[in-house]
Amino acid sequence: MSIEISNITKSFDSFKALSNIDLKINTGELVALLGPSGSGKTTLLRIIAGLETSDQGSIIFDGEDNTGKSTQDRKVGFVFQHYALFKHMTVFENIAFGLKVRPSKLRPGKEAIEKKVHELLALVKMEELAKRYPAQLSGGQRQRIALARALAVEPKVLLLDEPFGALDAKVRKDLRRWLRKLHDEYPITSVFVTHDQEEALDVADRIVILNQGKIEQIGTPEEVYDNPANPFVYNFLGNVN
Ligand code: ADP
Repeated sequence: MSIEISNITKSFDSFKALSNIDLKINTGELVALLGPSGSGKTTLLRIIAGLETSDQGSIIFDGEDNTGKSTQDRKVGFVFQHYALFKHMTVFENIAFGLKVRPSKLRPGKEAIEKKVHELLALVKMEELAKRYPAQLSGGQRQRIALARALAVEPKVLLLDEPFGALDAKVRKDLRRWLRKLHDEYPITSVFVTHDQEEALDVADRIVILNQGKIEQIGTPEEVYDNPANPFVYNFLGNVN
């Protein structure tokens, strides 16, 4: 699903978090929103998700205006930074949750839900942990479950806010390779927020560099790496982690 972002502006009181953002994301792309802390990455992602409204501008999904629509009406999956899993639910129940709360005509039956959850557990290689609770999992395992849960509703768009930020280097690398592989195998369009330049260069098809609420540069990893539009911002990013 393509996403066309036009002239998005957002202020919090008198502070302009985003100014006139224009960005077209193609179907199947994996796009990184990269930028220093406070540059507006999360705000833009939340506006795409429908979790936040913009002051002006529009978001068009596959030619359909989604600007005023709620998150449930958009075909998006959302993965937060700190694996917002339900603590009182098992891994199985966490993944099944998104399917159970679907509108009745879209809701699968019990057996279909079970089948789907097992497929997703296999996809994220967590089959043996279905009965555990989030507190009994490692950070990397929890984030895998968060990804499986987001994928349960077969989103056409996956939005990820620093999905691997809190994890150690090895798990982080494994999960980002996994995200890349998912992209290479499934028809999904993803936007992920990161302040880690290496992560963006490693997996993204295109990188969007934000600075102070504006787009500094859009390009493939090679273009951005070889020819940074603003070396100051780029170097700064490199020093964040
Ligand atoms: P990033 O994700 O790049 O770190 P954010 O999008 O979270 O940046 O924030 C951009 C700016 O907007 C920051 O200065 C932040 O303090 C401000 N901001 C974000 N959300 C809110 C909010 N709900 N209320 C007030 N200010 C906010």
